[in-house]
Amino acid sequence: MKINCLKGVQDILPEQMAQWNYLHSLAHEIFACYGYKQIIIPIIEESALFTRSIGQETDIVEKEMYTFVDRGMRKIALRPEATASVVRAYLEHGLDKTGDSKLFYSGPMFRGEKPQAGRNRQFYQIGIEALGTYSPFLDAEVIKLAVDYLKAIGLKDFKLLINSVGNTKDKHDFGNSLKNFLKDKQADLCASCKSRYERNILRILDCKSRNCKKLLEHAPIILDNLSEESTRHFTILKNSLDVLKVAYQIIPYLVRGLDYYTNTVFEITHEKLGAQNTILAGGRYNNLIADLGGQAAGAVGFACGVERLLLAMQAEGIEFQKKAEPAVFVIGLGDKAYMKTFTIADQLRQQGIISYIDFQERSLKAQMRLANKLNCAYVLILGDNELASHNIQLKNMRDSTQQLVRLDNLVNHLNQEFKK
Ligand code: ATP
Ligand code: MG
Repeated sequence: MKINCLKGVQDILPEQMAQWNYLHSLAHEIFACYGYKQIIIPIIEESALFTRSIGQETDIVEKEMYTFVDRGMRKIALRPEATASVVRAYLEHGLDKTGDSKLFYSGPMFRGEKPQAGRNRQFYQIGIEALGTYSPFLDAEVIKLAVDYLKAIGLKDFKLLINSVGNTKDKHDFGNSLKNFLKDKQADLCASCKSRYERNILRILDCKSRNCKKLLEHAPIILDNLSEESTRHFTILKNSLDVLKVAYQIIPYLVRGLDYYTNTVFEITHEKLGAQNTILAGGRYNNLIADLGGQAAGAVGFACGVERLLLAMQAEGIEFQKKAEPAVFVIGLGDKAYMKTFTIADQLRQQGIISYIDFQERSLKAQMRLANKLNCAYVLILGDNELASHNIQLKNMRDSTQQLVRLDNLVNHLNQEFKK
């Protein structure tokens, strides 16, 4: 029986690779300008890392995390996100001491969610974490970096939404006032919110159900209930975004699905995507470093969903220009010539030139078609005459011009052509 890819999991095919790599190298380039250094963290971690950081009572940990017990009876999880792992690595290797406190990563994450457009069970994120600082200016810099990246991709129809959930005490106090406000409305909440009421009250603010939204109409607003210190943090953030000319919308109901956020939370949504329209999300998490055993220090970061970036590019009609590869296809007409092209291709590859030859005794026409499909910039054709005179025909696939080139000058000649 044929075995297919699992549900909610995708292959990333060769034809998508150029665009995929472009999105990643653009991120490397722009993130580097802001001082971020790359880190590769493992795909598996002890489950406890995520239950302790993301929170036991969150959807990610409670419903979505892929976990298993290994042969050593260790509880292992496939990472559902990278922030906790980056903080773990930062503490484990004392990166604060080497000055490597701005880190970026990319790679697959795993969540057992209901698959739909823009929601997969294995999906890819590109993200950053800036560790060790409480400054609200850093929040603004992180957000500017996210916006710079999306703009560099060519995206236009996106919106930045910001909010503050305050410090731990603010969150706790506000949770209590919200509980009070909803006390006699509990019975009318949706099933998820009924359980959120006890376990994760702030998440009720984020509920998409129309009825829950209505019940919340006159609910207290978190921004009106922040401590002086948290209000100041948010004010500096807004002012510095203004200075950097970054447009934002304040959404008092914006809370994120992970417990570790404090103060700043933000999302970037794309107007042309459907229900799954958040392409990038992040915020500040001032407790996580201490929660994972480090000395108390602030941190802020974001993660961007690569599949959703691709959907957004498609929705905006951003064409990704596939460049013709500086590759050649070498065709030998007849056995003797074929034997020679076998060595010519080998020599070209030694000089770093991408070279293809045929292995299925295709006709000249079929080989030309294949060269075209492979996006080769040139075809080299060797027949008996060329073989005898130590030449080869060079056909330019873009303009269909053809010329005779001496075999002993071929590499040189091709390198000149590639420069054009
Ligand atoms: P959502 O609102 O979609 O559930 P989230 O709040 O769970 O997102 P985060 O954990 O903050 O998202 O992840 C950051 C980004 O990663 C999201 O904005 C999105 O672009 C992407 N992402 C998250 N979950 C998925 C998924 N299951 N499939 C594809 N992309 C995802
Ligand atoms: Mg989610």
